[in-house]
Amino acid sequence: GTGTPLLELTDLSVNYGAIQAVRGLTLHVQEGEVVTLIGANGAGKTTTLRAVSRVLRPVAGTVRFAGRDITRLPPDEAVKLGIAQSPEGRQVLARQSVQDNLELGAYTRRDAAGVRQDITRMYERFPRLGERRAQLAGTLSGGEQQMLAIARAMMSRPRLLLLDEPSLGLAPIIVREIFSIIRELNEQGTTILLVEQNARLAMQSSHRTYVLEAGQMTFHGDSPELLNDERVLHAYLGG
Ligand code: ATP
Repeated sequence: GTGTPLLELTDLSVNYGAIQAVRGLTLHVQEGEVVTLIGANGAGKTTTLRAVSRVLRPVAGTVRFAGRDITRLPPDEAVKLGIAQSPEGRQVLARQSVQDNLELGAYTRRDAAGVRQDITRMYERFPRLGERRAQLAGTLSGGEQQMLAIARAMMSRPRLLLLDEPSLGLAPIIVREIFSIIRELNEQGTTILLVEQNARLAMQSSHRTYVLEAGQMTFHGDSPELLNDERVLHAYLGG
């Protein structure tokens, strides 16, 4: 697309104490895109997502959302603006029911009727969550917990969904299901920034890809092209 990006990171740097996890990162996500971040363990992918969701405060650079500088916005304000994160390791509330988890995902909303309606829609989209709505989230399978984590993030009606390793630890058939859900959410209008170890599947499911190494962006491009790029084939696709 053209025009103001939905998300724009400029010269972003994020530290953990003396550790420079992200260094001078510049990237953008246009409305309607799925964009993938790939890179080895420790490259700074999760840190980048956490800076966007405002959980981490950058030491330098800016985060812009729909043209607005949100670098210093508190995390719940970012949710209200339309940024939702499904964190790595799923992190559903294990001792709460499926339904409670979905309600919690809507904590910034004041339209109770709309929230109920959205929960019904989530149960239509994720029938297994509907069947297990009263069950404690901790008793769900790994794949179901991942679906719940995504559904919970969607409950804030985000314009931008941040997905951190949605395929982590899941069986191949479930991974394919998760990715078809990701494509479907995108087709229905949600812009997605995706972090994945499964680089091939993530690139096959995204419009563009950024490659991170040691906290810096090394190259980027359209995903279909990078899928055939020697640098990606060699380092990230086992080619
Ligand atoms: P992974 O796939 O392992 O999650 P990643 O690309 O998401 O990798 P990050 O988790 O963003 O990488 O980590 C970037 C760097 O920051 C790494 O050197 C990591 O060790 C360090 N780091 C991450 N979290 C913390 C933390 N809470 N405290 C200190 N250092 C951290």
